[in-house]
This record gives sequence, C-alpha cells and structure tokens, in this order.
Amino acid sequence: MTALQFDLPCPDMSMWRQGNTGTEGVWHFDSGQPGRHVLISALIHGNELCGAWALKGLLEAGVRPSVGQLTLMFANLRAFERFDEANHDASRFVDEDMNRQWMDERIAEPRTLERQRVAALAPWVAVRPTGSLDLHSMHEPGAPLLLTGMHPRNLQLARQLAKPVHIVVDAGHKDGVRMRDYGRLGLPDDQAPQTRSLLIECGFHGDPASRDVARDLSIRFLEVSGVLSPSALQAALPGWNRPMPLSSGPSK
Ligand SMILES: [Zn+2]
Repeated sequence: MTALQFDLPCPDMSMWRQGNTGTEGVWHFDSGQPGRHVLISALIHGNELCGAWALKGLLEAGVRPSVGQLTLMFANLRAFERFDEANHDASRFVDEDMNRQWMDERIAEPRTLERQRVAALAPWVAVRPTGSLDLHSMHEPGAPLLLTGMHPRNLQLARQLAKPVHIVVDAGHKDGVRMRDYGRLGLPDDQAPQTRSLLIECGFHGDPASRDVARDLSIRFLEVSGVLSPSALQAALPGWNRPMPLSSGPSK
C-alpha cells in the first residue's frame, strides 16, 4: 500500500505550548459564574494534529466561557515535538501509548515519559471537569467516529451533539484506561450523573477535513455544555460550524 498523502500542515504551537496554569500545555479560564467545567484535549497522540489546530484556534480567537470554566489541554507535547509528516506514526508517543495510562497505580510509578505526563495532567482530569471532549484522528481514512464508552450518559451527549457522526459504544481497552474514562469521568452513571465525556476520531491524521471536524465538534460541544452561547461562538469562530454530513474521504 502506498503511503497516504499527509496534507494537513503541522500547527506552530510556540505561542501556546506554555499554558497559563503552571502545567505546561494546560490553559484554564474561569468565568466566575456557576456552570459546567468543560475540558477539551488534543495531542494525546503526538501525530494527531486536528485537535491541536482546534485548540490553537480557540486560543487565538480568545474564547472565554460566559459561565462555568473551560480547560484546554495539549497533552503529549514531547511526542508532538518529534512530528515528521514523512514518518508521522513515529510521533504517536515517545515511550508508550498515553491513552492507556490513566490508572492511579501507573501514575504512582511514572517510569515512562507518558506516565509522567499523565501524572502532571491528572489533576485537570480526575475531579474537576464535568464535561470532556478528547480530540483524536485516525491512521486510515474513514468517517468521523464518536466513541462514548459504556456509560449511557455519554451516549446521551453524543446524541445531543446532533450531528450525523457515527457513534460507537466501545468497551475499555485491555492495555489500560483512556483519559475519557479516568477519575470521575469513568464512574458509573449513578455516581457521577452530571459528567459527560467523549472521544472523537475526526478522520485520517493527514486529511485537512479532520481539522474541520475537530473545530466543528469543539464549538458544538461548548454550545451544548452551555459555557458559551451559540451567538458568542458564532461571533468568535465564524465558519467553524460546518454543514453536515461531514466525512473525511479517502485521500488515496
Ligand atoms: Zn488518538
């Protein structure tokens, strides 16, 4: 099989990698008003650029919550630093897959770079957010997929997003726990009825359409969470709300 063409440029992150929280890559904005605390994360895998583009766009537009709180997280910056479009799979992670390490016993013994980073990020994931959207992309071309995990409340959010995106109710991964299922986000419905968390696969890593999907689902998620009004989002991010259906077509 010939290599798939990688047409999505690598975003310049120099302005945005520092964060404003003391934790590298983590930005946090508090409206001072009651409301949901939502987290949007990108670069759990270093070669999945669509989410980095979406978060960078939110930061550049100066998006701030009108109510509640917003956290934006660039997760595996060390892997992302190694990104090379000619060999993009090599920057998926440094030592091991970061999206299997969200377990307290692994965080307690952070012997790989990814576990150390998960330990640093865990306080931003475990307890505080009541909503989480984790932006990913895929190794092969394909239609976007929303992965809900097993909790019905997440399926409810996926349906609320009201986009004809394929929804997958996926079981846990045998090699470890995903960020989507960590801490309070992973508790059963009756123990954490207010939380919602989703993972979206936005299409092929190198397809510019994956960036459109990441942007569109990000503003839709913010809108459904109620932290910004639709009109505020529309004013801040014109063109991000895409007509449906979205697809990340084959780029063979
Ligand atoms: Zn991924």
